[in-house]
Amino acid sequence: MSALLNVQGLKSGYGVVEVLRGVDLQVMPGELVALLGSNGAGKTTLNLTLSGLVAARAGQVGFDGQDITGLHSRQVVQHGLIQVPEGRKVFPNLSVHENLELGAFTRGRERKQQNLDKVYETFPRLKERVAQLAGTLSGGEQQMLAIGRGLMAEPRLLILDEPSLGLSPLLVEELFGLISQLRSSGLAILLVEQNVGQSLDIADRAYVMENGQIRFSGTPAELLASDTLRQAYLGM
Ligand code: ATP
Repeated sequence: MSALLNVQGLKSGYGVVEVLRGVDLQVMPGELVALLGSNGAGKTTLNLTLSGLVAARAGQVGFDGQDITGLHSRQVVQHGLIQVPEGRKVFPNLSVHENLELGAFTRGRERKQQNLDKVYETFPRLKERVAQLAGTLSGGEQQMLAIGRGLMAEPRLLILDEPSLGLSPLLVEELFGLISQLRSSGLAILLVEQNVGQSLDIADRAYVMENGQIRFSGTPAELLASDTLRQAYLGM
């Protein structure tokens, strides 16, 4: 099987600051891959570069066999590489329904309705709150809305950037259950997280990033079996 996402030697940064210093990473179809690493490792920069929001300076991003390096973010979305950004970024003064509709701006009207039905089925809590302003939702509900909005765009790969940030332990549990459920439905997911234990519980494979490079890749069991990795990179 060939990789759905195939990142080779990717470099990028901001002005004179080089952040990604040659990243290699793959996500296979249907796979849930955890991307771990401490603050400032470059995880968010990697996401922004994959999405075409920060320019790649070297290397390649392959998606489903096509070279998507340097495409405009809108074209990246059309390919089905969808990002749910860190910090949720829902539109606080729009309703739940309106926020979801915006996620489908590149899709047709009929598909929009189908996708909406599917999202409400996955997140019954959002269905109970269709008319509520997003800014008045709880943190966990806002996170679900952000993921729901991502699903509206018909992802083939969903990138979740720190979805558990700021959520209570109970909500984190619920969220990881939902992420597992999405993976079981066949969706490929790249999960960027600081919540190492729970991410490794649900991931098929993991990468550990440090200083703009991948330091380790393997199965959660391999990662947890190494004292060095656990202590140096995972704070465990
Ligand atoms: P975190 O978990 O804290 O978000 P991260 O692994 O996602 O960390 P990045 O946000 O990608 O890391 O940051 C990597 C490096 O790039 C950091 O040193 C950061 O200061 C720098 N950086 C991020 N955004 C910018 C920017 N817009 N301009 C300049 N430097 C930036």
